[in-house]
Amino acid sequence: MNLQNLKGIGEKTIEHLYASNIYTIEDILTYYPYKYQILEPTTLETSESNTVLTINATVVDTGKVSFIRKNFNTYRFKVETHGKILTVAIFNRAFIKPRMTVGRMITLIGKYDAKKNTFTANDIKLNAVTETKIIPIYHAIKGLKNNTLEKIIKEALKEKDTLYDYVPEEFNQKYHLLSKDIALEEIHEPKDVSIVKKAEQKLIYEELFVFMFKIQYLKSLKEQEAGIKKSIPIEKIRSFLKTLPFSLTKDQQKAIKDGLTDLSSTKRMNRLLLGDVGSGKTIVATTLLYANTLAGYQSAFMAPTEILALQHYESIRNLLKETNIHVEYLVGSMSKKEKEKIAISVQKGDVDILIGTHAILNEKLYFKNLAFIVTDEQHRFGVNQRSMLKEKGFLPDMLFMSATPIPRTYALTIYGDMDTSLIKEKPNGRKEIITKIVKEKDLKEVLFKVLEAIKQNEQVYVVAPMIEENAENSLKDVNLLKEKFDLAFHNKIPIGVLHGKLKKSEKEEVMNDFKIGRTKILISTTVVEVGVDVKNATIMIIFNADRFGLATLHQLRGRVGRNDKQSYCYLICNEEKERLKVLEESNDGFYISEKDFEFRGEGDLFGIKQSGDMTFKIANLKRDYPILMKVKEDVINYIKKEDYKKEKKYQEIVDKLDFTD
Ligand code: ADP
Ligand code: MG
Repeated sequence: MNLQNLKGIGEKTIEHLYASNIYTIEDILTYYPYKYQILEPTTLETSESNTVLTINATVVDTGKVSFIRKNFNTYRFKVETHGKILTVAIFNRAFIKPRMTVGRMITLIGKYDAKKNTFTANDIKLNAVTETKIIPIYHAIKGLKNNTLEKIIKEALKEKDTLYDYVPEEFNQKYHLLSKDIALEEIHEPKDVSIVKKAEQKLIYEELFVFMFKIQYLKSLKEQEAGIKKSIPIEKIRSFLKTLPFSLTKDQQKAIKDGLTDLSSTKRMNRLLLGDVGSGKTIVATTLLYANTLAGYQSAFMAPTEILALQHYESIRNLLKETNIHVEYLVGSMSKKEKEKIAISVQKGDVDILIGTHAILNEKLYFKNLAFIVTDEQHRFGVNQRSMLKEKGFLPDMLFMSATPIPRTYALTIYGDMDTSLIKEKPNGRKEIITKIVKEKDLKEVLFKVLEAIKQNEQVYVVAPMIEENAENSLKDVNLLKEKFDLAFHNKIPIGVLHGKLKKSEKEEVMNDFKIGRTKILISTTVVEVGVDVKNATIMIIFNADRFGLATLHQLRGRVGRNDKQSYCYLICNEEKERLKVLEESNDGFYISEKDFEFRGEGDLFGIKQSGDMTFKIANLKRDYPILMKVKEDVINYIKKEDYKKEKKYQEIVDKLDFTD
């Protein structure tokens, strides 16, 4: 129902509501109070002088207003309460004076100072509150006065039973939830405190139910999507795995098995491969790419940046070098001629595996029989890009790889509709990276370690935040940092510098010099993807570490520790931050992401933009996590129910929900 139908709401008001994204009765009724003020008139007798009191009093002298300066005034007047006369002071309420009359009963909210016999009010109700009253407090809507908003909500509440209750009856009963209309009424016009809680329970449950229903419903649809049943010569896979210079971890084996099962089933693969940096996802993906090739189909592998794409191309080609599989590389920066050449062989089916960036999405690129798609760090691709890729293939299986360990709750929101393979175990023989927080003034110790490492022919990464204009601290600038390092090492150690302002070819040169060991130290900003896999690097130094989120620091740290030597990470900062200690304690990305979540809350997580999906009106993922888990179970059971599709309620939910966001 539209807002226009509400009584007494003018066009201006409607405009303001629209501007705040409130278009319907539902929008306004789900504009919930963020807190409640509880007014319970008491007497002045109170031992604690600092508590906020609510008292009723009669005006005996309307007093006067004194202006301290513009926009700052004090209104003082006298009241009588319980046989006492007191002076009341309130700031910036000069405008209520005209409505004050001797003999008027009002309610004062504030603090009483018994010694001075004064009452400092922070609020005054001109119509006395005679019994306990709970007043909902709303975030202001731009352009609307508070009482206008209250009036609109009051009007809208008359239509409350037109809103749909998404919760199936069995769950309403199971948890003794209020009906939707009563919950809405009680959340906006509560009769007492305990019922507010009940109303919240219902509305939180419903919001989470809708959220989970969307995810699980989409998942159930995907599970029904037909895929190609591929026949995979398992013996060849086995002998391929035997050629590897290491043995797979249990998690890797399980992930490969999951993937092979998907590929050879009639159902389309829709799988997330989640594992910390260095956990060995590449070999899992490569094995599955190999299997898809053996089954007679083409594959595509899409990475978010050219550097990452190149790295994957090199390692996958290397892993498959004993086979006769044709792996190709395609990125935007290649010449038109090169791209055309590749396009032709992709179309002819000469290319078995194409690795690249979103250049693969180019509409002029046709595959002969694309049937398997892998994407790396998929949250960096838009949904559109992913579906474009999917459309390039014929019922393609999809594998999404991610090294971003996101907290459980968010994993559910972002990846909730996928099957998941998790690699938790690190490859054998890998030593934990030792992490230390170091004050900037103690940098010498670190430089000493650097020198030792370089003598052992090891290499060092140095990361500093972006070059800033008004840097109050010279260490922030990578160029200045290089000067300092040169000075400290008497220009004896070759150092490379990498930052966002370099040309592409310059960047590649700097990277390559480091990779082949021509430079021993690489100083870079984080603008640049430090995506190279340099096995020889054993020290990571991060300046102004407190500027970064824990997850980012953890990912940067993952650039070292890629061999069997002991690696170190030094977090340089001026003041010790509690947060950073988490990194000293743990190398487990999942644990770290949970901690990061605790420290930073729901804000911005590892640059994953909060999608519309993740903004809740009353639920709070962190606080309500236990409820979410219950809801998840309920929804899964509900959707799985034998003849659920015949149920009217189920159909209604599906019809009413908007699955586009
Ligand atoms: P990820 O992509 O998960 O960050 P990679 O697949 O790049 O990690 O693997 C990191 C390094 O570990 C690579 O050099 C790889 O060859 C090596 N590696 C992978 N699996 C194992 C294993 N089971 N045992 C030893 N080394 C491994
Ligand atoms: Mg990798």
